[in-house]
Amino acid sequence: MSNAFYDFTGELRRLEQDNLYRYRRVVDGPQDIKLNVGGRELINFCSNDYLGLANHSEVAAAFKSGVERYGVGSGSAHLICGHSSAHHALEEELAAFTGRERALLFSTGYMANLGVISALLGRGDTVLEDRLNHASLLDGGLLSRARFQRYRHADSADLQATLAVTSGKALLVSDGVFSMDGDLAPLPAMVELAEQHHAGLLIDDAHGFGVLGKNGGGVVEHFGFSQDDVPILMGTLGKAFGTFGAFVAGSEDLIEMLIQKARSYVFTTALPAAVAEATRASLRLLQVESWRREQLQKLIRRFRQGAKQQGLHLMDSFTAIQPVLIGDSGQAMVASQRLLEHGLWVSAIRPPTVPAGSARLRITFSANHTEQQVDALLEALDKALS
Ligand SMILES: *Cc1c(COP(=O)(O)O)cnc(C)c1O
Repeated sequence: MSNAFYDFTGELRRLEQDNLYRYRRVVDGPQDIKLNVGGRELINFCSNDYLGLANHSEVAAAFKSGVERYGVGSGSAHLICGHSSAHHALEEELAAFTGRERALLFSTGYMANLGVISALLGRGDTVLEDRLNHASLLDGGLLSRARFQRYRHADSADLQATLAVTSGKALLVSDGVFSMDGDLAPLPAMVELAEQHHAGLLIDDAHGFGVLGKNGGGVVEHFGFSQDDVPILMGTLGKAFGTFGAFVAGSEDLIEMLIQKARSYVFTTALPAAVAEATRASLRLLQVESWRREQLQKLIRRFRQGAKQQGLHLMDSFTAIQPVLIGDSGQAMVASQRLLEHGLWVSAIRPPTVPAGSARLRITFSANHTEQQVDALLEALDKALS
């Protein structure tokens, strides 16, 4: 029997020819600086575990005792019988951490963004998004059925011009730290524009929490912005927190609205309570152990200084995301492969994750890296890119 529906060979071959085919590598053992891949040890420069908490003994212990107390599965959605005291305590602690009235847990960041935007906007409204926003923010905007407007990356003048011709209810949406560039949203200008135009403001700080701000409060702490300035604040727990899941923090009414209306909250299983327990441990470490942020900044400075001396094309970032721009997808793949031969795992990021012609090596740092490892990376980059 032949059914043309299942004939994917043409499309798959095209992806391969365009150097856009994606592969998975199987990792054995815990997420850490050293990863075991097929019996080989690779130094990890591609994870989002910026503070080195994904395999922290206290986080793992909290997870295990969470399983002892709550079992594994949460059994149902939060609105049925899956909302445990562990989830509830974590929400209260995240609200306190972010200085917001309340916080609401979602099972993933992708789902949080789909849920929030589509709960707050509908047909006839407008969503304004930075061109380089994370796919989940773009998809949330499309799902909401609101008029979809993209503005130039981190360009508040373009945002202002777009807002000027927008009528009705509007929501400004941006990454706080851009996931593939490492730079920041122009938050002060966005806060002002949202206020002037009575628009909503949603900031997704997946890559800022834990990394930026004295207490790890992310981009809003970095700029000193309160709930009044940035009323809808989203964070993920699978990056610097080292666990899994996501949250939205804001006013009492905002959170109640999301509980009623966010479909990706209502119609999905609550994440395991033990994950919430593990996250409570990582939230404590993230706040108390500020040396992790300091160590990270030290490594980032060392890398940037060395990379500039070597003439690498860096981007405007002081966060843990330090891309080296290559341009061509094939060349980015080759560079990544050469680094692998030196025992370093750095991922090549290609379209459609980044705009056409801007393929790059996305290097990420962790507080658990050593200065020697940064130096080894610089040396290998020098060879791989020459
Ligand atoms: C990773 C990421 C997400 C998705 O979060 P998950 O919990 O991995 O689903 C959303 N937004 C940004 C900016 C991200 O980097």
